[in-house]
This record gives sequence, C-alpha cells and structure tokens, in this order.
Amino acid sequence: MSDAPQSDGSDVQSHLHYKRVVLKLSGESLADSGGRGISGEESGEIARQIKLAHDTGCQIAIVIGGGNILRGAQFSGSNSMVHEATAHYMGMLATIINSLAMQDALEAHGLQTRVMSAIPTDKIAETFIRRRALRHLNRGRIVILAAGIGNPFVTTDTAAAQRALEIEADVVLKATRVDGVYSDDPEKNPHAVLYESLTYSDVMEKNLRVMDATAIALCSEHKKPIVVFNFKKNGNIVRAISGENVGTWIGAEKKN
Ligand code: UDP
Repeated sequence: MSDAPQSDGSDVQSHLHYKRVVLKLSGESLADSGGRGISGEESGEIARQIKLAHDTGCQIAIVIGGGNILRGAQFSGSNSMVHEATAHYMGMLATIINSLAMQDALEAHGLQTRVMSAIPTDKIAETFIRRRALRHLNRGRIVILAAGIGNPFVTTDTAAAQRALEIEADVVLKATRVDGVYSDDPEKNPHAVLYESLTYSDVMEKNLRVMDATAIALCSEHKKPIVVFNFKKNGNIVRAISGENVGTWIGAEKKN
C-alpha cells in the first residue's frame, strides 16, 4: 500500500451542498412490508440508492436501527423476565446484525465500507473510534455505525445525532416511509399537513414524532440540521444528500 498522503477529498467535494452526512435508517427499512427481518431485495435497493449518493462525492456515515428485530422498550414491556437495560442491549445487538447485512449489500455494489460498533465485537466489526471513523470517511469508505451509542435507554436516533456531532457531519438525514414531518400521522389521518420546515422548538413544543427527544435536544443545542425524508421514493437519498428540498428541514430557524 502506498504511503503517499491521501487526499482529504475536499477537491472533489467543493461543489457539494453537504460534504459529510449521517444517514439514519430504521431497522424496518431493511425489511419487507411486515417490518420484520431482513429482505435481500429491500436492503439491495437501499444499497443501490446509497451508491448513487456516494458517487456524488459526499462522505456518508450510516446509523441503522434494530426495530425490525427488537426494540428494548417494547421487548421489556412484553417480557417481564428481561430487565429493561438487558432488552436495550439486545436492541443494540440487533443493530449490529442489520449493519452487517447492510455492509454486504453495499459491498455488492462495489462500495468500500467499514462497520464500526459502539460495543466491541472485534471478530466482526471495528470498535468505534472517532478519529478512525474520520479516516475511513476521508478515504471514501462508507462507515456503518452499529450498536447505537453503546448505552441503554436511548434509541439509534440519539446515536445518529451524537455521531453527527462527533464526526462533524453537516446534517442528519432521517430516512422514513413518509414524506417528512406531518401535523398528524399521515397513514391514519388523510388531512395531516406536511411541514416543509420546522424549528427544533416547534418539534419539541408540538411534540412532533420526528426523532426521540434526546436526539432533538442534542441537535438543537449544537444547531445540527435534520432533514426528514421519504427514502422509498426513487432517487430521494441522492436528492437529500444534494441538499434538494425533500421532506422537512429542521433547524434553529425555519428555512426561507
Ligand atoms: N438501543 C440502545 N442504545 C442505543 C441505540 C439503540 O439501547 O444507543 C436499543 C434500544 O432498545 C432501541 C433498539 O436498540 O429500541 C433498536 O434501535 P431503534 O429503536 O433506534 O431502531 P429503529 O426504530 O430505528 O429501527
């Protein structure tokens, strides 16, 4: 391997709206419509879209949830034998399973990837080290951040916000099945209104279901923008990464 200094990518990146992003995918995004398990077709399709986004030159870190396998709060609620903290650790392990599936789906598209886990699992993934993650990103690798932040009682939304701050991502892109943030659940209420732009305070005061409260508080405190968008629409991951108006933009002030 050459010892020549590697480009930090800034030359190819100068035209980009966002140079580095954290893409938050729910575990269910890897599943068929039932929302459970891992579908080769669904994960392959997401990988194809992420490849198009990566081809723009943007650095991409991905945080994947585990809800297609297990969510700690739900599981402990329905299974009194398991302590809630244990259930959250089980949820974190679920995110590692999803991350490994996503890694192979991305590599099948010719992308270079690294899975970095907040819980050491050295046979299957690197342990998350901020500076090493930055080096991978600067070398054009997609970094898949597994096991959330490694602590129970939060979700991978918080991990996406936390890691976005650590790696100085320009934005958190929260991929959902709907077109953005609505005044009500659009899958139940046909009159729900889609917001184009919101402030963090709007989200907190209106109690809008965007990301968990810790994630919103972290983003608000550090003015890290969030874009909530529909990843199911073909080309939307590229559009979101390119800074096009997709879904709902959330920041300290509304977008003009
Ligand atoms: N989890 C955790 N700490 C973290 C991230 C996740 O305890 O830093 C657990 C938590 O129980 C969570 C589960 O892992 O419910 C799966 O993640 P999440 O619910 O965010 O998955 P998603 O809904 O995005 O698929």
